[in-house]
Amino acid sequence: MTFDNFVCGQWRPSRGGATFGDENPAIRGSNLAAFQSSTPEDVREAVDAAAGAFPAWRRTPITERKHHVETFLALLRDSREELARIVTLENGKTIKESRAEVESALVEGSHHANQVEAFFQASGPGAFSDRTWMQYEPVGVAGIISPWNFPMNVMCRKTLPALLTGNTVVFKPATFTPWSGVFMATLLEKAGLPPGVFNCVTGAGSAIGHALVTDPRVRAISFTGSTAVGRQIQQQAAENLTRTQLELGGKNALIVMEDADLARAVDAAVTAGFSNAGQWCTSTSRVLLHRPIVRPFLEMLVARCEKMTVGDGLSEATDMGPVAGPTQYRDIRAAIRQAKADGARLIAGDPEWRAPSPEPRAPSGEPRVPSGEPRVPSPEPMGYFIRPTVFSGVTPDMAIFREEIFGPVLAVCEFSSIEEAIALGNRSMYGLSSAIFTTSRDTARTYIDGIEAGLAHVNVHTGYKEPAMPFGGVKLSGAGLPENSETGLEFFVDRKAVYVR
Ligand code: NAD
Repeated sequence: MTFDNFVCGQWRPSRGGATFGDENPAIRGSNLAAFQSSTPEDVREAVDAAAGAFPAWRRTPITERKHHVETFLALLRDSREELARIVTLENGKTIKESRAEVESALVEGSHHANQVEAFFQASGPGAFSDRTWMQYEPVGVAGIISPWNFPMNVMCRKTLPALLTGNTVVFKPATFTPWSGVFMATLLEKAGLPPGVFNCVTGAGSAIGHALVTDPRVRAISFTGSTAVGRQIQQQAAENLTRTQLELGGKNALIVMEDADLARAVDAAVTAGFSNAGQWCTSTSRVLLHRPIVRPFLEMLVARCEKMTVGDGLSEATDMGPVAGPTQYRDIRAAIRQAKADGARLIAGDPEWRAPSPEPRAPSGEPRVPSGEPRVPSPEPMGYFIRPTVFSGVTPDMAIFREEIFGPVLAVCEFSSIEEAIALGNRSMYGLSSAIFTTSRDTARTYIDGIEAGLAHVNVHTGYKEPAMPFGGVKLSGAGLPENSETGLEFFVDRKAVYVR
């Protein structure tokens, strides 16, 4: 299968004629399909289309724009199982996690669609007086660049608010997960959007990112990805004073006090530490333990890690799938080796572990041979599998404490007081998410006020979020208006002050 770009309502190959493959990370060397390796010229054509469609789309009544988005959401609901399989096949996460990702996109998309009329009603004639008012106006063409870890949810969280507020979109999916992005484009096409309102161009960020970010007709860039690329994008966007919404990396801390419900705290560490193989931006990666509970907590945590089934995400029995690809596999294992060399104690996981060879599958995900035969560990790693990994005895000077690993690796540190825990939690250039487990209201309050993070959770894991709440980080975890809540819409509008005499 070869998939084209979607530009101006048509499916077309890249001008350059090159394509790239999409590997299923559970099966090393596999190729699910081919996608366009687009060029800057392809991006320019997509921006031409989006700019051309903008004047009519911005004048389209809100109810009509909302109708298109609701039609898209209905199509998404109908195809959720097909899409969940695609997400698992190209990203590796378990099928349960992929279903949850689709559900989350539906909830967030409905939230924005339900919110958009009230959002506009709060502006425009009459909102303040008949002679003086502020009105929202769409900014123009929005560039959307998404990561591979939530290949369809993040895309929706950005694209739907942009469309609802009257902008047109050029979307670039992550190179590791182009299929989910192209599948979303097919649904938006079926939802009847006028040609050019939504465009999808696949390819490497290093090859086409610059053309998208620096095109003067692109007035907003919403990006989710690494801090390094986010910083580059902000610098490039500054050339045209293009606004940016940057959702970036994290090194999220879970603090567990001695008065906490330990079973629930362990559950939070496992859920947010190992879901999506530790590749949530809000994954727990540092676990800070009050000294009196270190031993019982770690015993429970290690027992949970050892029980987890790691394997092909398409199997309903799998607890954790592979990491997303060869780069991630190499980098995570290098970080594990570094942590060992730095003197941290490996108490769960085995970087040399080999998963049983998965059942061969067709690109559709169907098994190619009857299942049921015993499968044995392969001498060579069959996919990019890493077992849940825990290091204790971590100190702030170690790389594992400071650097985002973005894999199933927990770094455990100890502390003696809530003040010390907060200071440890804040000892990071990142500030995305955080959590505390405690039964003391005072301790919870001290943590909420003291922690430097965009998300503060009490007795809830670091990955929890709701669509009505802002989603974004502080420090090097993000910049610009957060996604979700009303700011998810606000990012895509300008304010015009109107005076009538
Ligand atoms: P990445 O920065 O490598 O890539 C993100 C996207 O940017 C991809 O589509 C990629 O193709 C594109 N890109 C790469 N180079 C580019 C360039 N020069 N110009 C324009 N676009 C370019 O990140 P990733 O590996 O896909 O995602 C993992 C990172 O994303 C982690 O750091 C994670 O914490 C972060 N993340 C953050 C959030 C959040 O909401 N804060 C959510 C998910 C992931």
